[in-house]
Amino acid sequence: CLGAIWAVRMLRNPRSGSPISVLANINPEYTTLAYRADEWEIDRDDIELGELIGQGAFGRVFFGRIMSKDLNCAVKTINEEASDLDRMTFLDEASTMKGFTQGPHVVKLMGVVSQGQPPYVLMELMERGDLKRYLLRLRDSSQTLTSNEIYRMAIEIADGLAYLKSRKYVHRDLAVRNCMINNNKTVKIGDFGMTRDIYQSDYYKKGSRNVLLPVRWMAPESIADGVNTYDTDIWSYGIVLWEIVTLAAQPYHGMSNEEVINFVLSKGVLTRPEECPNLLWELMERCWEWLPKQRPTCCEIIEMLEGCAGVDFGSISFFHSPIGVHYFDHAA
Ligand code: ADP
Repeated sequence: CLGAIWAVRMLRNPRSGSPISVLANINPEYTTLAYRADEWEIDRDDIELGELIGQGAFGRVFFGRIMSKDLNCAVKTINEEASDLDRMTFLDEASTMKGFTQGPHVVKLMGVVSQGQPPYVLMELMERGDLKRYLLRLRDSSQTLTSNEIYRMAIEIADGLAYLKSRKYVHRDLAVRNCMINNNKTVKIGDFGMTRDIYQSDYYKKGSRNVLLPVRWMAPESIADGVNTYDTDIWSYGIVLWEIVTLAAQPYHGMSNEEVINFVLSKGVLTRPEECPNLLWELMERCWEWLPKQRPTCCEIIEMLEGCAGVDFGSISFFHSPIGVHYFDHAA
């Protein structure tokens, strides 16, 4: 009976490129995928679903509560019509986050409901949503960010990146759309999936490979050779600074994706935004050094920002935390 023959196959997560082990029926027409419940598993009955707070590429995101722990969370779900591979990818991305339990500027996983349908991924609640939407809302209401707010965001994202580096994780898709902001206006890196983002226009299918790429955030060596390193994350971090200062303008606006590729490969970089503080512009330029090793490390970035005049770092709690930024970067 063919239906009873099973094999463990290694597939690639189309978003992260990481291998997923899949328990599959050998007949591809009837592929069944399995996720193994582990210590992150939470009973479905323990979750109270609240109002809708967002729409992701996989499905809707709700406000939720883990009743036994009396904790609020965000509940990510997946559409009913999703394929088994989509479900597996969805849970695989949650699994990536299982390794990031300590970083104060990386959104934390709180649990997984894999038993029954639909699966839920429970995440730390970031009340103000993704940073791109937050910046666009400020722009729509004719508000701006103070220099202190910009520096604080810049430090927090650099700290998140330093933590990921200490976990030997190259993000590959750092952008404001993938950062989240909470009620305290703390910014954290919050999305570990690629190419199926709700902001579809930020991705581009290059050449014949069936992969969507965030070309406007990519370093020249990533565009040319497909390499992703800590140094290419720093290039993207420079673009993130530019997005923050411009309140989420589209990088290289007015250029097509192909034009962006040619521009970046011929050593072109973004122009200085209006009213951009000198220090931030200097930092952006350093992040966009052509030679990857000449770009600053996360630790150097934080030191540069820490040293800028007029910023009250006393209000930023992680500087007094035993697991502060420098610990992470030196541990990397
Ligand atoms: P994507 O498809 O871009 O990966 P997500 O599924 O991560 O999107 O999220 C979709 C939207 O849901 C976000 O833009 C945000 O508004 C909201 N959201 C996602 N995660 C959280 C969270 N942890 N806390 C609060 N809101 C969230």
